Amino acid sequence: MATQRDYYDILGVSKDASQAEIKKAYRKLSKKYHPDISDASDAEEKFKEITEAYEVLSDEQKRSQYDQFGHAGAQGGFGGFGGGQGSYQSYTGSDFEDIFSQFFGGGSSFGGFGGFSSGHARNPNAPRQGDDLQYTIDLSFKEAVFGVEKTIKYKREEECHVCNGKGAKPGTAAKRCQQCNGSGVVNQTRDTPFGRMQTQTTCPNCDGEGEVIEHKCDHCHGSGRETVTHTVKVNIPAGVDDGQSMRLADQGNAGYNRGPKGDLYVVFRVQESDIFDRRGADIYFEYPINFAQAALGDEVEIPTVHGKVKMKIPAGTQSGDNFRLRGKGVAKINSNSTGDQHVTVKVVTPKNLNDKQKEALRQFAEASGDNVTEEEQNFFEKLKNRFKD
Ligand SMILES: [Zn+2]
Ligand SMILES: [Zn+2]
Repeated sequence: MATQRDYYDILGVSKDASQAEIKKAYRKLSKKYHPDISDASDAEEKFKEITEAYEVLSDEQKRSQYDQFGHAGAQGGFGGFGGGQGSYQSYTGSDFEDIFSQFFGGGSSFGGFGGFSSGHARNPNAPRQGDDLQYTIDLSFKEAVFGVEKTIKYKREEECHVCNGKGAKPGTAAKRCQQCNGSGVVNQTRDTPFGRMQTQTTCPNCDGEGEVIEHKCDHCHGSGRETVTHTVKVNIPAGVDDGQSMRLADQGNAGYNRGPKGDLYVVFRVQESDIFDRRGADIYFEYPINFAQAALGDEVEIPTVHGKVKMKIPAGTQSGDNFRLRGKGVAKINSNSTGDQHVTVKVVTPKNLNDKQKEALRQFAEASGDNVTEEEQNFFEKLKNRFKD
């Protein structure tokens, strides 16, 4: 790491910014600089910088280390700290897990509800973001092409409505844990051949919560959370494709300790069409014509997703020739343009001819017997000459 800019400056937030503000700033900037979206030459560099800043500031543990010790402190989890004293060792595992989930977020978190996991043995009172959730929506071919509004129902964790997330029976309050003094961790000192070692473990009395609830809320049994079936309307834009997903911010599980909510990822599963072959914003379509149409030309009506469209087949069209119907494809997301429909013409050779048709074709064949173009003539002459000697 060559230059280390201040993480707060990078995200453009103040030193006492709340987690919600930090998250908001990160989202705004990552939208601007995501290498998939941005054209700026330094987008990737910027995006990395933003992500690094967010990784630290979104984690209360790392943020306070950063506030105290600067960049060196923030990287403590990787071994900058702890080696000798062992005092920070208990954090390493969970930090590592967190960073993994950051890197593989989105992708690997798919596959079930509550994909993201967060570490355990950390400041129990630090706000943490709720889990992201995933929901798969089935769409017909047409719904994906033109967009649709869907109402979905899914289960998510919310703050218990009886105790407002506190976990204690209304009218009572949780008490600070006597054993750990509210820190959630207890220090143990051991004598080893290398000297005194101090290790930190989760407080057994409060399970790391820092508080003990004497009178638990009847509804949530003290967890402060309940599972609720939530209904949300999803406005699916025109042009989504199979396997694409959409993020609904803050529709995931409730955060912990007033941390921000997780997000809901809606994944689209789009049915294929029997008629149209969609590839991105373009549609491919095969249209059969007969020999006469190919030879003489014709005007035909081609089905498209936008209805039938007139198309000219020029005289002398060959089987396999391609035509393009501009703007008759699928809308491109985040753009005003629309894809095209590509029409491949297939000349179909007739199978069951009646006598009249057979006779007409015989006459045609006779008439075209000597009817060889000059080009073809030249070609045959060359061939003959080549095999002469
Ligand atoms: Zn409750
Ligand atoms: Zn305790």
